[in-house]
Amino acid sequence: MSCREVKEIIQLYMDNELDARSTLEVQRHIESCPGCSHLLETYLKQDQALKQSARSEMIDSNRVRENILAAIAKETRRPKIGWLLPAWKRVAVIAILAVSATFLFFQSGWLLDIKESVYAAVAADHADHCSIEAVMGAITDSQELNRLAAAYGKMGATPDLSRFGYVNPRGRTCKVDGIEFLHLVYYNQDKQPLSLFVRPHASDLIANELTVIQKDNYEVASISRSGVDLLIVSSLDEKLAEEITRAVAAQL
Ligand SMILES: [Zn+2]
Ligand SMILES: [Zn+2]
Repeated sequence: MSCREVKEIIQLYMDNELDARSTLEVQRHIESCPGCSHLLETYLKQDQALKQSARSEMIDSNRVRENILAAIAKETRRPKIGWLLPAWKRVAVIAILAVSATFLFFQSGWLLDIKESVYAAVAADHADHCSIEAVMGAITDSQELNRLAAAYGKMGATPDLSRFGYVNPRGRTCKVDGIEFLHLVYYNQDKQPLSLFVRPHASDLIANELTVIQKDNYEVASISRSGVDLLIVSSLDEKLAEEITRAVAAQL
């Protein structure tokens, strides 16, 4: 892929709108081209700045105003203290109140923004793609799988789950809840298959810390680590699901 071609589709690449093959081609080009890698970095920074300013506009300005009004009311009720406080200190008090209001907003916003729907969606996709029929058409070539693991999960290779009896991963890229993941299915001689969904970290997609949610009789475990979002769907008990999720996260 040439620099010109990369520049044409870099926005799509950033939005995860490309198919796996083009994603890989762009990735490979960027890794070997300082010019395009610099361009991507610049775009990512702009993107982040835009997102941040969009978020700060959402800050509950009413709450900030209420806090400021309350602070002013307090001061007028106790005129001596208000009078004794130098002007810059009064400004500082108001600024601190505004900052804590912002902090509260982000705290509650963080919980509301997590897409619970992604847990249900990966459980449904797991049911679709771990059947015997779905084995056909999946990618089995380990070199190709390792390349995908690098592109989606920044991993050197597909995670090794052999100590849990899960081997022979097969993969495909799946749009789950509108978001593209690398979907790896591992097989076990004695147990139901297990699915691993990997993608570069997106804010507010899943909780950062290890979380296990039951969806449609599946255990869906998730964790965000080293800039990678990871969801694991299995029919295991919660404890083992957690253990395997930690084991994969440790390989990130
Ligand atoms: Zn280039
Ligand atoms: Zn799938």
